[in-house]
Amino acid sequence: MTPRTRADLETIPAYVPGKSYPGAIKLASNETTHGPLPSVRKAIEEAVDQANRYPDNGHIALIAALADYLGVPAANIAAGCGSVSLCQELVHATCKDGDEVVFAWRSFEAYPVVTQVAGAVPVRVPLTADHGHDLDAMLAAITDRTRLIFVCNPNNPTGTALTKAELERFLDAVPPHILVALDEAYFEYNRSDLDGITLLHDRPNLVVLRTFSKAYGLAGIRVGYAIADSALIATLGKVHITFSVNAVAQAAAIASLEASDELLARTDGVIAERGRVRDALRSAGYEVAESSANFVYLPLGAQSRPFAAASAEAGVLLRPYEDDGVRITIGDPHENDAFLAFALSEDTRSIAKVGAQR
Ligand SMILES: *Cc1c(COP(=O)(O)O)cnc(C)c1O
Repeated sequence: MTPRTRADLETIPAYVPGKSYPGAIKLASNETTHGPLPSVRKAIEEAVDQANRYPDNGHIALIAALADYLGVPAANIAAGCGSVSLCQELVHATCKDGDEVVFAWRSFEAYPVVTQVAGAVPVRVPLTADHGHDLDAMLAAITDRTRLIFVCNPNNPTGTALTKAELERFLDAVPPHILVALDEAYFEYNRSDLDGITLLHDRPNLVVLRTFSKAYGLAGIRVGYAIADSALIATLGKVHITFSVNAVAQAAAIASLEASDELLARTDGVIAERGRVRDALRSAGYEVAESSANFVYLPLGAQSRPFAAASAEAGVLLRPYEDDGVRITIGDPHENDAFLAFALSEDTRSIAKVGAQR
């Protein structure tokens, strides 16, 4: 007999590890292509020397470095084992059984999972026709059970971004007892005037999430952070899994902040490539969502899975989203060229049902 576990977890799909294609170009996870800078590697090595000691559960040095970098008091910052764990902490901090969490769909795949694991109810609000957040529909989805709203900006997987005015209007309309989590995992790739931190003033129901996994290149090391009113930060501490941000991660994040000029300069190259890939795809007849992140999204509908399967066979790994679309991370120019060679070929365009087909 198997032990009795929660029946409601059966509706959460089991994690399926990606098929491995040795030697394939990986454009599936929005990572950067560069390994750690020498200064970051050195900090990692030094932290390893202390591996017998517990990490600082208050993340004091990391939070001080973030406070200094962001110009925000330390009491307004929390660290987590990747910002996905902060998403989970936010649900635990706001929801009990049956409470509702509103988010756009499609959006970050972790939102429904962390919601259901906490016993809360995911409320998915369809994107607009141009693949962005439908903020009016999200407002209309609020009920007296709503406790938390995720707004992913730029949105993963579509890349679309809100304007500052759109977001401010939304925040002003959300009842102040409902927490809004603005997930800015791709903030560093967004060249708009929208910086969530500037909206925190006088909004104790707003929390901004950022991560070292994307532009800072530490996806394998796991550090994210939240910026919010100090009362919310204190509450997050209560649901935080003790010592989950390990010492190597804290040291690597601090060293990466010290190298932020060099790391952020790389985002310009990604953005130039993003424009090149988008233009080439559009010229070939593809619809491409307007992206403010380090990936592009093709709404291929039912052709999404066959497209991604053919791409894998051609040596380029992408991320399909059921019958909605595929997301392609912007990599190095030669990697993007390999993807474009695949996508622009006549065979592929007939799979995708786009462009001039004979
Ligand atoms: C990648 C990503 C995150 C962060 O992931 P971590 O590696 O856990 O920091 C958070 N939100 C979105 C939308 C993402 O795409």
